[in-house]
Amino acid sequence: MKRITFLGLGIMGAPMARRLLDHGYDLTVWNRNPSRADALVKAGARRATSPADGARGAEAVIAMLADDDVSRAVWLGEPGALAAMDRGALAIDSSTLTTRWIRELGNHAAARGINLLDAPVTGSKPQAEQGALNFLVGGDSTAAERAAPLFAAMGRGHVHVGSSGSGALLKLINNFMCGVQLASLGEAIAMSQRSGLDIRRTADVLAAGSPGSPIVKMVVERMVSRDYTPNFLVPLMIKDLTYAIETFAGEGIELADARAARQRFIEAAAAGYQDQDIAAVVEPLRRD
Ligand code: NAP
Repeated sequence: MKRITFLGLGIMGAPMARRLLDHGYDLTVWNRNPSRADALVKAGARRATSPADGARGAEAVIAMLADDDVSRAVWLGEPGALAAMDRGALAIDSSTLTTRWIRELGNHAAARGINLLDAPVTGSKPQAEQGALNFLVGGDSTAAERAAPLFAAMGRGHVHVGSSGSGALLKLINNFMCGVQLASLGEAIAMSQRSGLDIRRTADVLAAGSPGSPIVKMVVERMVSRDYTPNFLVPLMIKDLTYAIETFAGEGIELADARAARQRFIEAAAAGYQDQDIAAVVEPLRRD
């Protein structure tokens, strides 16, 4: 596959698309706000005027969009990508989405002779820039093998998790655990700050000890330095936790801790951090 189209050039999509260009793919890009495509177009990508314009003639179309509603609008809307794609082309959605929506989109794709892969990623902005993302792939295994060179160009590879929706499901399980840990970390750092402990020392002890998971290690520094430059936006974590709560409920598991964590992120958004990094979950809890 050589002719690739990338839809959605946000914090994650832009560096992922950039890596495809750097690996020599013939790349077409589209973003709702067109200025976000400028740097890629300058570097050699073709600018599409709509998802459908981008999808026409592509061998694979990759989307990296905010949520289910946006994914639906871009694939199925007017003029959506799916209806413009050639039979036999590959549709890949790397956004964090629900399994319900992925299965619905997969049925629309199959009806048009198109294979859909759900391929959400683990890793954040730095991993997207460095090509260190891991793709969790659901769908047909032959299609996943066809897409393997694309995953290798954008990341360190992929895991074929199983049938359609299983990549999306594993991603929600993964992000539910990340969200809960970060809400707890915010509470821990705020407790340390309110009670007069040295928060730098607290952060070092937590990061080096048993609570120091990769996500805690990555985000604690941002909380200490109060650097909320967006890597992962607060509303997207609220969305991921909401999707996880709904999905687990479908199997009879009440995610009480995800609900509590989601409330912390909602409070951060309400306090004005809706366009900031998830590390800002600590802010409403701090006492200055
Ligand atoms: P982002 O920077 O907010 O980008 C969101 C993308 O969705 C942008 O291209 C945006 O276009 C587009 N979009 C939003 N609303 C739209 C609409 N109504 N119509 C058309 N396009 C719309 O988010 P991101 O961090 O790149 O995340 C993208 C996806 O990856 C999300 O599903 C997120 O949960 C997931 N994810 C993020 C991370 C991370 O660390 N950031 C890690 C793993 C997975 P505009 O530029 O026009 O707004």
